[in-house]
Amino acid sequence: MIKRPANIDNYVIEWRRHFHKNPELSFGEFQTSRAVAAELKKLGMAVKTRVGGTGVVGLLRGGRKGRTLALRADMDALPVKEENKTSYISKNPGVMHACGHDGHMAMLLGAAKMLSSQRNQIRGQVKFLFQPGEETPPGGALGMIRDGAMEGPKVDAVFALHLDSSLPTGKVGLCRGPMMAASDNFEITIAGKGGHAARPHDCLDPVTAAAQIIMGLQTIVSRKVDPVHPAVVTVGKIRAGSKHNIIPQEAILIGTARTIDPYSTKMMPLWIRQLAEGIARANGLKARVGYERGYPVLFNDPDMVDFCEKAIASRYGKKAPVRITQPMMGGEDMAYFLQKVPGAFLRLGSRQGRETAFPWHHPKFSIDEKSLSLGAGILTEIALNFLSQ
Ligand SMILES: [Zn+2]
Ligand SMILES: [Zn+2]
Repeated sequence: MIKRPANIDNYVIEWRRHFHKNPELSFGEFQTSRAVAAELKKLGMAVKTRVGGTGVVGLLRGGRKGRTLALRADMDALPVKEENKTSYISKNPGVMHACGHDGHMAMLLGAAKMLSSQRNQIRGQVKFLFQPGEETPPGGALGMIRDGAMEGPKVDAVFALHLDSSLPTGKVGLCRGPMMAASDNFEITIAGKGGHAARPHDCLDPVTAAAQIIMGLQTIVSRKVDPVHPAVVTVGKIRAGSKHNIIPQEAILIGTARTIDPYSTKMMPLWIRQLAEGIARANGLKARVGYERGYPVLFNDPDMVDFCEKAIASRYGKKAPVRITQPMMGGEDMAYFLQKVPGAFLRLGSRQGRETAFPWHHPKFSIDEKSLSLGAGILTEIALNFLSQ
């Protein structure tokens, strides 16, 4: 059972506002990680800094021997110009905590405070992972894992929360199995032969070929991927030409491919290459395809999800947990931690009225701060339940 320090509600709100005022971009979380490390030390933990860049690991040793559980928060903000009008808006122009990572850190510090206040009753260890660069692939999780964040003591399970404005405060979204997509990037360069727009027969037009390729790529989802599995191929950027009367030398298409099932993830680069190169060739041109792997599928261990659901329901009522039955096509590098050990990534409702209903990455993104102490409590509850098993 959690003992709640009396001031925990203010503690998490103050920390959230501090981080919100002082956002830092991916891999530049220097002040943020310094503040986190200092606070963890104050709470009596062994602290490692510069883990995978600006990452911080705090270790809380309980009074009795047992397993090791890790709780994770991400620390980076986004290049977004804040449009909120609170007393604690971003002091760094053009940088904003528009994905709720300020709240993630505050909740994890809140859990650290609650757990450290009753460390003697804890069986085992709790690791607090504060990771850099979630918003910028290849992300900060891999670097932390490489620097030994999951070893010494070896982590047995890992959990994290993400604030979610699509759920009302008080609800926690749980998804068994795959929850977030493998998200890769591609770049297609179509090499043609430029010339006068009025003499297409003397040229090899990369623009018409690019148009065919964009439409062709859509058939990957409709014709190659098994229809029962979700997938996305989006061309987000087209670059070609300079003027209405010039056929350019080349066209460049930049996009993202999202998949859930392992076969589609594996085949996607080949499917894109076949289509782009084949269509270009049919037009007498050449296409070159660059393909970059991003975050893998985020997989929640079904047993761990059931365990979390039980822990949350017993403490916060049967109506608090809600099942998410469909995966989302966004990417998350929490996936790397979950590849190493079983665990779960949960969504914490943070909407209370219109002001807190803006989506992630929006210049008016904001959260119902009441969700923060709930989130800290849930992380604490999960830790205590897991370690007492
Ligand atoms: Zn984000
Ligand atoms: Zn995020």
